[in-house]
Amino acid sequence: MSVNNTNSDMMSKYARIFHLIFQNDKISKQDIAVELNLSLPTVTNNLKKMEAAGWITADDKFTSTVGRKAIAYSTNDLGTVSLGLAIYKHHVTITALNLKSVEIAHDSVKINYSNTSEYYHSVCDFINDFIKKSIPSTSNILGIGIGIQGLVSSDKQTVLYGKIFDNTGLTTEQFSKHLDIPVNFYHDADCVAVAEQYAQVDHRDSTYLSIGEHVGTAIIINDSIYSGDNGRSGTMEHITLNPVDGRQCYCGNLGCIETYCSLSSLLSEDETIDEFIKKLHQGNSNIEARWDDYLKYLAMAINDLHMFLDNQLVIAGDLARYITDSTLQELDNRIKKITAFPEDKSYLKLGKILNRSVAKGAALPALSQLINSFS
Ligand SMILES: [Zn+2]
Repeated sequence: MSVNNTNSDMMSKYARIFHLIFQNDKISKQDIAVELNLSLPTVTNNLKKMEAAGWITADDKFTSTVGRKAIAYSTNDLGTVSLGLAIYKHHVTITALNLKSVEIAHDSVKINYSNTSEYYHSVCDFINDFIKKSIPSTSNILGIGIGIQGLVSSDKQTVLYGKIFDNTGLTTEQFSKHLDIPVNFYHDADCVAVAEQYAQVDHRDSTYLSIGEHVGTAIIINDSIYSGDNGRSGTMEHITLNPVDGRQCYCGNLGCIETYCSLSSLLSEDETIDEFIKKLHQGNSNIEARWDDYLKYLAMAINDLHMFLDNQLVIAGDLARYITDSTLQELDNRIKKITAFPEDKSYLKLGKILNRSVAKGAALPALSQLINSFS
């Protein structure tokens, strides 16, 4: 899996084989060939390269699914760690993933965002403390990916569009001057999509609708983020539902999806989503009316997105924690009533990463790059 400005770099055969081995813990090359629809010589070649690099170990005490003894392969993680950080208005979250993309540590701290060197210095102190406290000193830290609420340059070093935090032009240097590891920026919506796609078994092309403080959208085709010519594909939160007299969006337009489907649009200034959902379950009629209005616009937005991309749509981000099967059913019913092409089968799916999805998605590209670099 990778985050790029093109859709051309599919997960390499090498990476797919590696991924399958650690998903299965132990697996034979015959089973790898069947699962990935690859020829046995291709699998054998790649396994030899992985063994030589020390990424995998061969073990002959394994009985394959066809009943005969076969060599089983398993992965070594070699102490590889990738860090991911997510920046929010009032806090930051950090995670550390090992080579199998399993989270080995995480932390967060309350700190109000400001585009100042003092802020970046404080966040880097937090990162350095986290490394000291939570990461074994023998680890090989690949770097840190930082999930930004904005669009970033193709070299991942500059914020190109940062209206939410007013940080357009911010470079990774503000962080890297205080850290001993490489730093890359990633658009937060892409991070959520990458983390979710990594957790999907079938790796289908998908549209991700990530709903948190703000709405973020991303398109994944052939297991890669599709960003288009200028990195702006998939910023569908600024499609307008009501451009004439809709609500004011931070982008300057009226009536964007952002202004109807973000948690900021659902909640009042001093309200949390936890409190809102609790009151909803208690049958508060005012809250019920607001939720009904919210679902009406969410169904409209989903229907619009599905018109562009006829693939599965995954609702992810903070809201995914609170969406139940009956809410999904409710959305399906609403979509059927407003769409030009009613479908029998639902294309809606719920995200699986319920915590730290931005931070995890910011940590994953360095792991993928490493695995792909051996192909
Ligand atoms: Zn907008």
